[in-house]
Amino acid sequence: METKLCRHCNTIKLKTDFNKCKPNKDGLQKYCRDCTKKFGRQNKERRAARKGRVMKPYEEKKFAHITEDELLMYLRKFTEIHGRPPTTSDLEGNPDYPCAYTYYRRFRYKVPITKKADNWNAILQLSGIEPLDYFSIWRAWEYLVECTIKLFESDYVFQSTNITKDYRPDIVIPSKKLIIDAATSNYDSKHKKRQFKHAMEHGYTVEFWCLYKTTKNGINEPYLKYVFADEIIEKLQAIGEDELIHKIQTLLTKHDTYTEEILAHKKEYIKAKILEMATLLKRTPKYRDFFGKPDFPSATTIKEIFGSFNEALIYAGLTINKKANATADPQIAINDLIQLTETLGRLPKIQEIGPPNTTYTIKVYRKHWGNLSNCLQEHGYKLDKQTIVDSTTIKEDRVFYLIAN
Ligand SMILES: [Zn+2]
Repeated sequence: METKLCRHCNTIKLKTDFNKCKPNKDGLQKYCRDCTKKFGRQNKERRAARKGRVMKPYEEKKFAHITEDELLMYLRKFTEIHGRPPTTSDLEGNPDYPCAYTYYRRFRYKVPITKKADNWNAILQLSGIEPLDYFSIWRAWEYLVECTIKLFESDYVFQSTNITKDYRPDIVIPSKKLIIDAATSNYDSKHKKRQFKHAMEHGYTVEFWCLYKTTKNGINEPYLKYVFADEIIEKLQAIGEDELIHKIQTLLTKHDTYTEEILAHKKEYIKAKILEMATLLKRTPKYRDFFGKPDFPSATTIKEIFGSFNEALIYAGLTINKKANATADPQIAINDLIQLTETLGRLPKIQEIGPPNTTYTIKVYRKHWGNLSNCLQEHGYKLDKQTIVDSTTIKEDRVFYLIAN
């Protein structure tokens, strides 16, 4: 083995203990690696001192030199202890484990190609752990949360649409002004914060029901409470709901995501809600009856679950009025259109036609009159094309104004 003398510490060392430096005759640096490291550290300390800072003594990183196999062993250890694979946030700031960054650094760049993994799930697979399908787990968890709520609250609403337009919390308990959202863990994200803000703005208190706890603290807000599975299990133990407890406890390890059970459960819930609506209206509900009703599932949800709205009605045991579906009443169509045009102050756009704005969809207007303006003109309305002028350009906007004769 070739050796070389370090000019600083005056020690003869192996050539492999020197860093490379191409311009030098032997292609190596003058000083050994240990000395180079020392210089670097001294430089840093000098710079810090100039700025009036004092550096902490050097500390070797705990997991800096462990092998790839040892790194993977830590993942298996976590999985064994916690009954599920770790997430990246589980390892962050956790002194017992290397952090996710250590894994990425190692498995993205340093190891031979056969061991390369560039995302967390791939790294888990390297250690022989099957990664969790977080989406299905979350779906199943949402379902188990709902099953729990059902046992304690009588007036809960599942995925109510009307707190705000783009926020559909998992569960709303109107009488308590409480929102319960199922989350796999107490992770902190922009999305969760936004949800919480929406709820707060509408005067609701929020509880995030979490399947497991990460080392992170989550969102710290006065009207936000984290409820963890252990607390929920305690509540269920008090009323002897052993089956439900078992499902919660094994959700992460058994990978059973209850897909069919969830669908059946949702169908039953919607059936009850459709019947409730039927009692309220004293007739078979229509698709549009479910628009913008905060205490009922949305029309879209019903369609999603059953494939079609009629299928849902059949499931609920209601009779479908096929005739009403077959023929549209032109008088209702024209009245709707006139009303909508007057409200908007212009000719409605095609996408504005249909429930809840008008009874019928654009198809009906096309079939009877060809298009919307024809329909209005035939009924004595004159449409005036106006030119809108702004400071720089004259542009013709395709806006029509309605002038009644
Ligand atoms: Zn040296």
